[in-house]
Amino acid sequence: HLPDPQAGAAVKAADRAHVFHSWSAQDLIDPLAVAGAEGSYFWDYDGKRYLDFTSGLVYTNIGYQHPRVVAAIQEQAATMTTFAPAFAVEARSEAARLIAERTPGDLDRIFFTNGGADAVEHAVRMARLHTGRPKVLSAYRSYHGGTQQAVNITGDPRRWANDSGTNGVVRFWAPFLYRSRFYAETEEQECARALEHLETTIAFEGPGTIAAIILETVPGTAGIMMPPPGYLAGVRELCDKHGIVFVLDEVMAGFGRTGEWFAADLYGVVPDLMTFAKGVNSGYVPLGGVAISPAIAETFGRRPYPGGLTYSGHPLACAAAVATLRVMAEEGVVENAARLGASVVEPALRALAERHTCVGEVRGTGMFWALELVRNRETREPLVPYNAVGEANAPMAAFAAAAKEHGLWPFVNMNRTHVVPPCNVTEAELKEGFEALDAALSVADRYAV
Ligand code: PLP
Repeated sequence: HLPDPQAGAAVKAADRAHVFHSWSAQDLIDPLAVAGAEGSYFWDYDGKRYLDFTSGLVYTNIGYQHPRVVAAIQEQAATMTTFAPAFAVEARSEAARLIAERTPGDLDRIFFTNGGADAVEHAVRMARLHTGRPKVLSAYRSYHGGTQQAVNITGDPRRWANDSGTNGVVRFWAPFLYRSRFYAETEEQECARALEHLETTIAFEGPGTIAAIILETVPGTAGIMMPPPGYLAGVRELCDKHGIVFVLDEVMAGFGRTGEWFAADLYGVVPDLMTFAKGVNSGYVPLGGVAISPAIAETFGRRPYPGGLTYSGHPLACAAAVATLRVMAEEGVVENAARLGASVVEPALRALAERHTCVGEVRGTGMFWALELVRNRETREPLVPYNAVGEANAPMAAFAAAAKEHGLWPFVNMNRTHVVPPCNVTEAELKEGFEALDAALSVADRYAV
């Protein structure tokens, strides 16, 4: 990996001239030119290497450039690069079979999409058509994708600029003890009160108007809040009672992230529809989908489903999924996430929290962890205000810059940093990352009391 700053400068110049970047003020960003990536690392054209504690956007669950998956993509490209979705194609059939084998309960029909947002779009469309009802209930602290319906189902501020006010979405508060909306002091209280709040919301909205309740099994970008025991089972019960479709969004939490194949497995809950993307093939080729219950599949047994995509179940993406799922099974990737999450990540993060006054809470499981950074541990005032930009966000910017200086690429959202490395990360890589995190948290400490 010889440094080549000139090549890097050319890549950067073309990017700045012609690439319009997601979620960004185009003149205020400075994207790093990346020369290559392998396993848990990537490097720039100056030869500086970073340990990736973000897994891209929390999707490279088997790391970069896994040779077996790269080979499977090359092989598929050589035999059948593409084929239209109306045909039965080996890579597509096999991917669907392997996914259905792993999805919770009786979810065994797979509708393929190009990514997570369109999976959410289709799940909601299926729920509306299945029930004949218009509304969707979703949580304030959530992210469900960037397309029009998905971003409006999303709770985070990215929806504000896109909110037409006519999306048939009603939001509620899901449990989050550290910042409880319910004045709860224990997980049991938080769980019971959050369920009571949801039940009341359903009653006042009118159960007969609600097609679906959608939740991230474990909310990801919004802060990795593990639902208390009993919450998801309680939501399942409310859905059953009122004929509401229960949608779990596992786009981020699925495929090993939590140390289980799906986060729903942690709670023994089976939704009616489950969305996935990202980890299904580590994002090597865009792929997402919806896993569908028999009852909803039957709705579209003799009546056409009014939806589809040119690239639904693209052979290249599906071949990458088949190879990824085999690698994950044969290399024990899910078990690695569970084992190192419990034996290395959790103790290391708790030790960092003891040493650094800026850490308010550590939470998560598997390779899915959040540190809530605060100005004051007593009041829990966040290190930066909600949705802060510019000067107001300076403490988090300083934290991120310090991490990068120490060779760690951190995941940062609002006042949190998430520790979300590949699920096949090694113990030595984790330890290297925690040393850099230690140094970066010392910088954040300067803003805390
Ligand atoms: N749902 C969840 C839970 C996500 O985390 C994301 C992306 O981060 C999405 C949906 C949207 O997925 P995509 O960006 O592939 O459209």
